[in-house]
Amino acid sequence: MTDDNLLMMRYRLLWFIPVLFLSACSPEPVHETRFMMGTLVEFTIEGVPRATAMKAIAAAAGEMARIERKMSIYGPKDNPIKRFNRTPERTDFIFDDEIDKLLAMAVAIEAASGHAFHPALGSLNRLWGFSLDPPPSAPPKRDAIRRLLPAGGCLKRTGDHRWQRMTRSCQIDLGGIAKGYAIERGMAQLIQHGVRHALINAGGDIASIGDNMGKPWRIGIRHPRKPGGLLGWIHLKHNECIVTSGDYERFFMYHGKRYHHILDPRTGYPATRAIGTTVIAKEAALADAWSTALFVMGARGLEPLQQQGMAALVVRSDGTIIMNEAMQKRFHSIETR
Ligand code: ADP
Ligand code: MG
Repeated sequence: MTDDNLLMMRYRLLWFIPVLFLSACSPEPVHETRFMMGTLVEFTIEGVPRATAMKAIAAAAGEMARIERKMSIYGPKDNPIKRFNRTPERTDFIFDDEIDKLLAMAVAIEAASGHAFHPALGSLNRLWGFSLDPPPSAPPKRDAIRRLLPAGGCLKRTGDHRWQRMTRSCQIDLGGIAKGYAIERGMAQLIQHGVRHALINAGGDIASIGDNMGKPWRIGIRHPRKPGGLLGWIHLKHNECIVTSGDYERFFMYHGKRYHHILDPRTGYPATRAIGTTVIAKEAALADAWSTALFVMGARGLEPLQQQGMAALVVRSDGTIIMNEAMQKRFHSIETR
């Protein structure tokens, strides 16, 4: 080989190596955090340039904020849910397609969970005040709780997009399902902006698409009594969602007893059959509502979820973890003392 040829080869190699290197590397993952829906929402996006990811996140966050404004019973602004809650009993109220569909899903889950999930605990939740500022420090009076207990099935669809509340205390509160729905819609926005690999984590409600650099997304499940500690972890399959509910999210201690924000619709008091629950499903709204339902039902809710193809676990107050078969197959425990 002549000196000229050698020089030429070196030159080609020098040019070639950075090109190879650049094409082998996908863009850096983008992490962004926003505060909304009363929690920190974390976006993780892989596989697109930062500018694309940031545009997609802005669109997703905008969509989630829209849903929060439209569906929350808290805050100063009026919305269709608050208007419905002020409508006299047994009077038709017409909702748009979006709320009609979500309510239909919520009412179906109410029936399937034996009224453990109740989408019309609005007056009771306001009485407890876990979502108010300042948060409560003592339970309400027993009589007041009893007065505001809504009957199971008090929310009725009377016709096309038409809904009625059957009793005065029957007021919609979508707090147990709307966050899941919001991250679902947020994810749809990311997809519309060309994102194919992403996680949205809204304080334990997680939606996913694609994977993490060719590997499945690995999700830690929070320990309900060890801040920063994990119970275990699982790998998400394509486009799965995982939701965890716990009595550590919003609570106060009163006379040595913990009072938290997931209420048993039969008693009107915080549910006692679990301290943490996790559900994996194809849709985040479904996983969200069922993790709340399972929290009220306790371990006896695991089998119905197995029948519906959802992996689920319950942590009981003594710390024992009970799983359905679908969860046992994929749960990796983390031994802690
Ligand atoms: P988080 O919002 O902390 O993730 P959940 O998804 O379990 O927790 O939802 C709790 C919220 O759902 C409460 O703040 C309240 O608005 C509502 N809620 C409380 N108890 C019930 C219940 N039994 N059924 C349906 N919604 C409930
Ligand atoms: Mg929920």
